[in-house]
Amino acid sequence: MIIHVAKNIPESLLKDFITHHQAVHYEKPETYVLITPSATKETDRSIDKYITKQVITDTDIQLAGTKYLAEKRIVKVGNITFGAPDSCVMMAGPCSVESEKQMEQTAELLLELGTKVLRAGAYKPRTSPYSFQGLGLEGLKLLDKMRQKYGFYIITEVRDSTHADDVIAYADIVQIGAKSMYDHGILRKCGKSSKPVLLKRGFGTTLQELVQMAEFILSGGNENVMLCERGIRTFETKTRFTLDLCGAAYLKYNTNLPVILDPSHAMGYAYGVPDLAKACLAMNVSGLLIEVHPDPKVALSDASQQLSHEQFRKLYGELKSMSEALHIALV
Ligand code: PEP
Ligand code: MN
Repeated sequence: MIIHVAKNIPESLLKDFITHHQAVHYEKPETYVLITPSATKETDRSIDKYITKQVITDTDIQLAGTKYLAEKRIVKVGNITFGAPDSCVMMAGPCSVESEKQMEQTAELLLELGTKVLRAGAYKPRTSPYSFQGLGLEGLKLLDKMRQKYGFYIITEVRDSTHADDVIAYADIVQIGAKSMYDHGILRKCGKSSKPVLLKRGFGTTLQELVQMAEFILSGGNENVMLCERGIRTFETKTRFTLDLCGAAYLKYNTNLPVILDPSHAMGYAYGVPDLAKACLAMNVSGLLIEVHPDPKVALSDASQQLSHEQFRKLYGELKSMSEALHIALV
């Protein structure tokens, strides 16, 4: 159950309720927001007169649920808006920050196409300790340089909670990756910040679990959360993962959070990314995350799936035409 409680409630009453119902709580300028386990269906009489909103929920999809907010939440990143109806934000760039030269080349491409959100990881959660782990803080500084120089918004991932504060400070959107999405240190730090967060679904994560992880951030008081489907593991081995478009439809219709699709990590091979990206746009989701590299064959991570600039240019032109036909603003 979610309840909004007026700020004039006596402190002791509020504290007693929180303790008695094990309520998670945060404060907004105009109200207290208290969330009890979904099994709780009733409040105590004593606080009744201070309640301004009450939503009884069926599962622990609470703050993210449409019962609480029927409209999509709008997540603002500078002058870019995620979650607006019929609007899709392109987030593009390499898997990893590798060098200043590579960042400059990427910047040139984004400027040419007029896209505003630059993606690249500085802390990479690799599946082998012997693979490139990312440039770390140096990578964040390079991203910052691109932002200062060209006005991009930066989305970059946090791998663990030891550097979460740095990523939160440097990023415009904090990406929590598929392998880190259960890390409570990260989730709780993101909950205490107001920076927009893109939470990726783990490849073995149910939709319920994904949304519950988002609830950790939301119930910490950060209302700027987006969900990203990036492929789940199925019996199929010919593609790296399987992009769960059914799951994306579920999230779109059953949560109030903007839904983003990442065709690059799902497919794992550049040849399939353009077709998938078009399917994603046709689903009218709030954003796309696509990997593009100046020279994919020498990329230090995810080489096989990154589009070349040539391929991305072509895809972007096709997506633009499609978006016009679909009356979707591709930002
Ligand atoms: C990435 O975006 O480069 C990445 C590591 O993605 P995921 O967490 O989905 O594997
Ligand atoms: Mn990648």
